[in-house]
Amino acid sequence: MTIRPDSPLISLVIPCFNEEASIPVFLEAVKNELSEQALELIFINDGSEYQTLEVLKKHAAKNPDIQILNLSRNFGKEAALTAGLDHTTGDCVIPIDVDLQDPLSVIAEFLSKWREGYDVVYGVRDNRRTDTFFKRLSADKFYKSFNKISEHKIPPHTGDFRLMDRRVVETLRTLPEKTRFMKGLFSWVGYKSIAVTYSREQRAEGITKFSFFKLWRLALDGIFSFSVAPLRLSSYLGMIISVLALLYAAKIVIETLLFGIDVPGYASLVTIMLFIGGLQLLSMGIIGEYISRMFTETKSRPIYILEGRYSGDTAEKNEPSK
Ligand code: UDP
Ligand code: MG
Repeated sequence: MTIRPDSPLISLVIPCFNEEASIPVFLEAVKNELSEQALELIFINDGSEYQTLEVLKKHAAKNPDIQILNLSRNFGKEAALTAGLDHTTGDCVIPIDVDLQDPLSVIAEFLSKWREGYDVVYGVRDNRRTDTFFKRLSADKFYKSFNKISEHKIPPHTGDFRLMDRRVVETLRTLPEKTRFMKGLFSWVGYKSIAVTYSREQRAEGITKFSFFKLWRLALDGIFSFSVAPLRLSSYLGMIISVLALLYAAKIVIETLLFGIDVPGYASLVTIMLFIGGLQLLSMGIIGEYISRMFTETKSRPIYILEGRYSGDTAEKNEPSK
């Protein structure tokens, strides 16, 4: 059985994009609910447009547990989480949203499972009451399709909120890919895992930072980074259509032999041409999705750029470590 420290250092990884209103509420909740724990609060300012960095600096000047990673622009939540994980030193690490939708009270349960020897304790939402109808529907469809076609399943209704042992984080850090679909990577690394069910709260302040297009891009990244099934789908479609075309050709030959030359129908011809043309474009699009991801990987640009790290009494800039 793994020996785990009685009072571990817990790193909370907290991505923030225009969250000036949520940060004070979040810190107040941390003070009330986690005062017993040794904490490292890693806030990532993901290129916020407004006062987020200033608010963070103000709190960091009073609270030595706070460290701020300031990204040079908005890189998205997945990159922000990657930045956060790269800079944690805790025995266990918990990515958590700053809007208090992931309740801090669940962390005690995470810790007790971790002490039992689990390396990953992931939160599962008991319902999606707090999501809009559209998000509920799209998330449900996404997880169902993802789990059907990917070898590495994501437990349904899980988010990024989870506790990971230090060694899981170190393993994640060795994954070099630039397209980061964190939920997929979390599941890919494996380790002894267990679920804890929790009830997802309403957002404490502000509005969701995920537009429809951000969610759509995330879903595409998930599917195309973790499965080659779409490529197979286009080859199978190609095969099926070839067989149908052969059967149709046979039908025309037989009809011609039996009834003489047939005058082919204009409508059926156009329909078939458009249908095949559409399928060809679809297949090219699918190949394009993979090529575009290969393009991103070969360019090998960094996943995020750190403008600076801030912490301490005056919340002054420390030398960027990366
Ligand atoms: N977030 C981020 N970068 C982004 C979008 C979101 O760092 O480009 C952060 C955001 O500040 C929050 C977390 O990711 O702490 C989850 O975002 P949000 O609550 O808007 O998502 P939802 O809960 O609606 O899915
Ligand atoms: Mg939220």
